[in-house]
Amino acid sequence: MALTGIQIFKLLPKTNCKECGVPTCLAFAMNLASGKAELDACPYVSDEAREKLAEASAPPIRPVAIGQGVRKTTTGGETVLCRHEKTFFNPTLLAGTLGSDIDAATLEKSLKTFNAFQFERVGLNLRPELIALKDAGAGKEAFATCAKTIADTSEFNLILMTEDVDVMTAGVQAAGFKRPLLYAATEANVDAMGALAKESNLPLAVKADSIDALMALTGKLTAMGLKDLVIDSGAREIKQALEDQVAIRRAALKAGNKALGFPTITFPSEMASNLDMETLIASMFVAKYGGIVVMSDFTSESLFPLLLERLNIFTDPQRPMTVVEGIYPIGNPDENSPVVVTTNFALTYFIVSGEIEASRVPSWLMVKDSEGLSVLTAWAAGKFGGDDVGLFIKKSGIMDKVKHTEIIIPGYAAAIAGDVEEELPGWTITVGPREAAHLPAFLKTK
Ligand code: SF4
Repeated sequence: MALTGIQIFKLLPKTNCKECGVPTCLAFAMNLASGKAELDACPYVSDEAREKLAEASAPPIRPVAIGQGVRKTTTGGETVLCRHEKTFFNPTLLAGTLGSDIDAATLEKSLKTFNAFQFERVGLNLRPELIALKDAGAGKEAFATCAKTIADTSEFNLILMTEDVDVMTAGVQAAGFKRPLLYAATEANVDAMGALAKESNLPLAVKADSIDALMALTGKLTAMGLKDLVIDSGAREIKQALEDQVAIRRAALKAGNKALGFPTITFPSEMASNLDMETLIASMFVAKYGGIVVMSDFTSESLFPLLLERLNIFTDPQRPMTVVEGIYPIGNPDENSPVVVTTNFALTYFIVSGEIEASRVPSWLMVKDSEGLSVLTAWAAGKFGGDDVGLFIKKSGIMDKVKHTEIIIPGYAAAIAGDVEEELPGWTITVGPREAAHLPAFLKTK
């Protein structure tokens, strides 16, 4: 349960030294309680107080890390039931399934195919994260060999799927270094699977056939000292599976039920007979409240909409989506190519870059940081002023890339042309069209 500001204050040093950026420890405690400050901002919190505060401020759904290195990923850590209350933090992880009876050549080909499913959108690289390696009864050596190949040769993190502890042990020995998720502990194997997860310090998924049975298992595993759990209520019928997701989320957040305070794993792959229906079911779990969604396969036409849905749901609704300020070459521009300036609101960038691409006129798109505002709003709010834009052009390095001295500013910001000119003497400031849709025709005349 979250602590109040006063309860937090009692744990602080009470020296009012101001190093945390606020005048008093009480003010800092109030900020901490309302989520406006981080505990690390106070260098004088004792270890004991830190432990108490960390426990009290831990999210009601435990964040569970899977994988190692740059592709390490986290599921769970959510604090709200509805996205608009604050934000959702850790995007639903998407997994594709491979069976352990796959031959080496097909495995290599599948990994290459899966790896190619990467999409650029608003300056982000969208891709699935996991491969669920399912024990297909080909023996523990085959399971271990596949696990090792995936761990060694792909960028995917792993879910090792078997209820056979011997097979799982072989998989852990082969691919444990990549911190896979072990799926699953059940009523039948909970002691041995729990011991294996504890000994190898790996996250463990728990599967039961009802929420009550699930709570009994998570209780047993946490008593064994396991913390990184992922839960599966066992429902494979769509309505029941959705109801379970909502019930688990509500129980963890609203009732503080620690036995259900873990991210979930869901299996559209076991709920549909074709990939289209699977994708629909997966989209339901991305919205409500799947921590991990396991698909039977990956195809671009099923993945792309899921990745976009995920992107939209897991962006902070209180912050506009932005792209990084900088120079974006579109269509292999050269030193004679036009230079077009716009703001860093992601949608603006996406529309403008799309229209430039459609024009087939190679161009330099200059994206100026406007705190995520569109052109007209940014200009009205003073975030896209002429002197700012001129300064940005000067510092951007575009002058080393082109030999002409003309920039095209958005039609909606025509009023800044004079100020840009003042900042960039000798340059021609051309006012482009107001609507991005008119850019292709405009650029073709250049
Ligand atoms: Fe109090 Fe710590 Fe802030 Fe100093 S840094 S005022 S001790 S909360």
